[in-house]
Amino acid sequence: MKNIFGMGKIELEEILVAQNYPRFRAKQIMDWLYQKQVASFQEMRNLPKLMRLELEENFSIEHGTVISALHSKDEKTIKSLLAFTDGEMVETVLMKQPYGNSVCVSTQVGCNMGCSFCASTLLGMKRNLTAAEMLAEVIYNQKLLKNAKVTNVVLMGSGEPLLNYEAVLQFLHMLHDADMLNIGYRNITISTSGIVPMIRRLAKEALQITLSLSLHAPNNELRSQLMPINRKYSLDELFPALDEYVQLTKRRITYEYILIDRINDTRECAEELAHLLKNRLANVNLIPINPVKERGYKRPSLGRVQEFLHDLQRKGINATIRKEMGADINAACGQLRNRKQLLYKEEEA
Ligand code: SAH
Repeated sequence: MKNIFGMGKIELEEILVAQNYPRFRAKQIMDWLYQKQVASFQEMRNLPKLMRLELEENFSIEHGTVISALHSKDEKTIKSLLAFTDGEMVETVLMKQPYGNSVCVSTQVGCNMGCSFCASTLLGMKRNLTAAEMLAEVIYNQKLLKNAKVTNVVLMGSGEPLLNYEAVLQFLHMLHDADMLNIGYRNITISTSGIVPMIRRLAKEALQITLSLSLHAPNNELRSQLMPINRKYSLDELFPALDEYVQLTKRRITYEYILIDRINDTRECAEELAHLLKNRLANVNLIPINPVKERGYKRPSLGRVQEFLHDLQRKGINATIRKEMGADINAACGQLRNRKQLLYKEEEA
């Protein structure tokens, strides 16, 4: 059975017309799927009964099922685990902020990048998500919001988005599509560990999205320790690609910098980082690490974090400390899924 969820309007119209239905039914179906987030054809009340039955016989609506959801006490953050038809699971997070509602999307099941501080990579990468599955993450969160709208999407869940390039690009178009989510590219952020050829390719798409680069260290030696990808694409290759990205898109790049106690939070590191970003169109986002039990890294004191921030600012670098959302459910990315996977393994044993 063909999955109707995530199908573009033109394809849907063609299918409907071939079955002798009028073209305008496509828009109605999309309205039910993406604006009203229904789960079955029976709920599509403005379609003739016979048509609903026929659709039901020929199509499925695959938008994942929720396995568990953690709500922060203030209800501003909801972290959910979704399962897809093959049983694979991903995490997605809804963050209600004063400026809008953000959804954090996973792009792969697990991750292969092997970053030493990250929980998503502990069990390796199972597979890429399809564009429709990424869309399902957003629609699921949209449904949680009821009347309010998802206004921002960040591709910062598990996975390396630029290693699932085609599907990610297709997903961006779906987010932007007026018949789907109607979200402006400026409200979409892609976070990458630094896949150089794909950054160059993305630059040529000239989309007005925000590129966020997970830097985490100001020199090759330390970055290679924290992020194995740096052994393949070192800072010497990465920065020319990022500079080209800025040149082609005229967009400022966000640099994510996790602060890990006594590893990359020293004054020398701040100094080196400021030097690296000097004269570059950059925003630094400092993120006190979410400690992952399996990894043994610690979070620096608040004083240390602020000192790092001021060291950067004194050198004229734009920097902010990332506001922490839902500290009470602040299991680091990937931990919810890992725990579930382990539970399943225990159940199977
Ligand atoms: N693969 C992409 C996107 C997923 S990771 C990337 O590397 O950017 C999204 C962000 O979460 C990255 O900046 C990543 O470094 C960060 N992250 C991973 N583990 C973390 C942890 N334990 N604490 C805080 N941030 C973490």
